[in-house]
Amino acid sequence: MLNIILFGPPGAGKGTQSAKLIEKYKLVHLSTGDILRAEVAAQTPLGKEAKLLMDKGVLVSDNIVIGMIDAKIVKNMGGNGFIFDGFPRTLPQAESLDKLMATHSTSITMTLALEVNEKELFHRISLRGKSSGRVDDQDEATFHKRMNVYNNETSPLKHYYKSQNKLRQVNGMGEVDDIFNALCAEIDKGA
Ligand code: AMP
Repeated sequence: MLNIILFGPPGAGKGTQSAKLIEKYKLVHLSTGDILRAEVAAQTPLGKEAKLLMDKGVLVSDNIVIGMIDAKIVKNMGGNGFIFDGFPRTLPQAESLDKLMATHSTSITMTLALEVNEKELFHRISLRGKSSGRVDDQDEATFHKRMNVYNNETSPLKHYYKSQNKLRQVNGMGEVDDIFNALCAEIDKGA
């Protein structure tokens, strides 16, 4: 299986690139943000609880997202593999993902980290906010909150994947297709 983590801060282009990658490599896209937003839209108890945190730009509890991912992995085993987008975001999530993969006799192939500077991230989130309707895309204070959460809780995972020799850093600035080609080149090089 080809199991890829698409890693990066808010606005790095993970959703955009995931859509292109799943088409080319026939993978299943697992975005915890999308799954949570579906729960919010369906007004489930989980969705109602998660919305309060998501709107503020802070993380939903590890147990909730790990449980959601577990269910989706079980449901989609047997395909070519997965693209994880927005997951893992904490060390317990990364460790749980490795365990879940091992349970299914597979593993993470590589982590592709999109590198984009903060000025460009803010620009992209501001643009997206005009059409996404997402509360967390609307103001600068929430953007900075999300960046703090990323820098403190998520970015350190690069060390985790680097120590496993799985981290591939890719320039996430520039044209969508150029970035896509750079991602594909890393994937095609193999693990
Ligand atoms: P995203 O669409 O990836 O930007 O996620 C939007 C929001 O959903 C985040 O700010 C968190 O509140 C929540 N969320 C998404 N993925 C996770 C995750 N792996 N762990 C915790 N919270 C998450």
